Amino acid sequence: MQAALFLDRDGVINVDSGYVHRPEDFHYVDGIFDIAREARRLGYRLVVITNQAGIARGYYTEKQFLGLTDWMCERFVKEQAPIDRVYFSPYHPTEGVGIYKLDHISRKPHPGMILQAQRELDIDLRGSILIGDKHSDIQAGLAAGVGTNILVQAETGGISPDAGDYLRIRALREALPLLAGHHQRCSQ
Ligand SMILES: [Mg+2]
Repeated sequence: MQAALFLDRDGVINVDSGYVHRPEDFHYVDGIFDIAREARRLGYRLVVITNQAGIARGYYTEKQFLGLTDWMCERFVKEQAPIDRVYFSPYHPTEGVGIYKLDHISRKPHPGMILQAQRELDIDLRGSILIGDKHSDIQAGLAAGVGTNILVQAETGGISPDAGDYLRIRALREALPLLAGHHQRCSQ
């Protein structure tokens, strides 16, 4: 079993400007490649878990999302930090159109995407780390049993004090020293 670094996408990998679905609107967050590279070096799997309510709402299609994902994954390969898998939830419980209107287990704060990754990639969840920018990311991580959950949020407020056990940082780069403290691959 291998631990994973679970990354939310909007607000962690790219700046969240709202329903981003085109490369020209996709701006990488400062430090994301350093964190992804360091995670790979330490032996973590790299897994993206992303709610994509924009698909549910009909703002863009699954095909468009997958095209953007291919483009994003190519960049991570170029940056020596290949992503193992991207899980996405195209549902929304109230605003979804047609088949997408569903309170689906995959949609964070539910833990479905993390649990699916655990099954498919044989991931050690206790040793894993999740980075998200919303309370719902943290809730999903805690519900799945992810050992370390990190909230990146520049502004104070908006977080329930009883949200559970998680770490709070103000900028993504602050996650870098937190990675090494939790997981180390033995040298041969
Ligand atoms: Mg987000």
